[in-house]
Amino acid sequence: MKKVNQLYHIVSIIRKLLILFSLFLVFNGWGIYSGEGAYALFMYSNLTNFSFWVIFLMGSVLLIPLGRFFCALCPVGEINYLMSKIGLNKKINLKFSILQAFTLLLVFLLVITFNISRHPHLTTILIICAFSLSAVMGLIFNGNSFCLLLCPASAFLKFYGLFSSVKLSSEGDCNVKNQCPVLLNPCDIKKEDCHLCLRCFKDSKGLKLSLTNPLKGVSLPDFNRADFFIFSVLTGLTFMAFIRVVRDVREIFVYIPYKITEILSLSHKLILPLTTFFGVFIYPLAFFILSAFLIKIFDRQSFGKYISYFIFSTLSVHMILALVKINSRIKFLPYAVLDPSGKDVVTLRLAYNFDIPGDIIPIEYFRIILFILPVFFYSAGMVKIFKEKLPVTIPLGLLFTFIFFFIEYIIIKWLFVFI
Ligand code: SF4
Ligand code: SF4
Repeated sequence: MKKVNQLYHIVSIIRKLLILFSLFLVFNGWGIYSGEGAYALFMYSNLTNFSFWVIFLMGSVLLIPLGRFFCALCPVGEINYLMSKIGLNKKINLKFSILQAFTLLLVFLLVITFNISRHPHLTTILIICAFSLSAVMGLIFNGNSFCLLLCPASAFLKFYGLFSSVKLSSEGDCNVKNQCPVLLNPCDIKKEDCHLCLRCFKDSKGLKLSLTNPLKGVSLPDFNRADFFIFSVLTGLTFMAFIRVVRDVREIFVYIPYKITEILSLSHKLILPLTTFFGVFIYPLAFFILSAFLIKIFDRQSFGKYISYFIFSTLSVHMILALVKINSRIKFLPYAVLDPSGKDVVTLRLAYNFDIPGDIIPIEYFRIILFILPVFFYSAGMVKIFKEKLPVTIPLGLLFTFIFFFIEYIIIKWLFVFI
């Protein structure tokens, strides 16, 4: 207990230091835009861009075996918490957590329409917006309202946290004096809900932090409507990232939006936004609702419980994207640390045609890892299905298999045709 208490103080200091670091990132990215040729390298050579898009967004997916590790250290969550301590403390309505689906979508749209992930200046504005919103919401509402209602990262961490090996649990006479910032009862929590901030360890009794097998004891949640909607949008967004580059699959996805513009004589410029709308909202929702309806006839499970099985496949796709990004970009890290503005890399490239940092693991080997990843998650999902001892598992198994082969197909196409 004493050790965990010390851990709480260390984590708390790190969070404060990361607030200062974020201020530095804002200062560092301000006014820098990526251009063409060597100037495009600012996308990764600038520490602000690198920290946000590679370390935070991709790292938070890859470190899922450590649960919501990034939440534990997150400076935005810390600002939200500190402001809530001096604010009005108005009660929040958790039904509005559905808004996370829209903030996730908003970030995606900003990336594809305004290329914000390319420009350090635009990334800086995004960081400022996140801090400002989190501060204002903290001043108005109780708890970490930004984390619970708006944070786009929370929209995926709350599902993937199921596979966390870090677990907070109670033992003996559990007695917690501090209120949990995400409104949980620390004596009785699910590991995917816990932000691992360790604040409940301050002056409390009967809590322990332990490491477990991340796949053991995974208890699939029974989704409520908000969870279902957020998960459906998340699935649409992760698959869209592949579909954009795999031509034959893309053609299938574009078919209905294309026909709509043709029948209604609309401008062809509307095909892209319509495809995004269908890819993010209509296709995944239609797939989940239709298949849930069919499965329910055979398996007699609740709708929400059934959909949560697909966390395995969505996470495998998201992990592949994160691995590819980290593998191809992490070598920029030493350059970004030594010259946070990123200008040195650009100067070197212009003056000496300096080689752009490449992949950490060569693509020949990396293909195998990417190919195996869905196999791993598929197997874990199937084991889970059989362990649940459902009356009829074949329809669910068939759907799972269909998704598995679909993922493998787009990976093979993507790796062998486009890389
Ligand atoms: S939910 Fe979002 S804002 Fe809150 S701590 Fe986690 S990453 Fe940070
Ligand atoms: S249960 Fe404890 S560690 Fe988890 S989010 Fe609440 S206060 Fe933080």
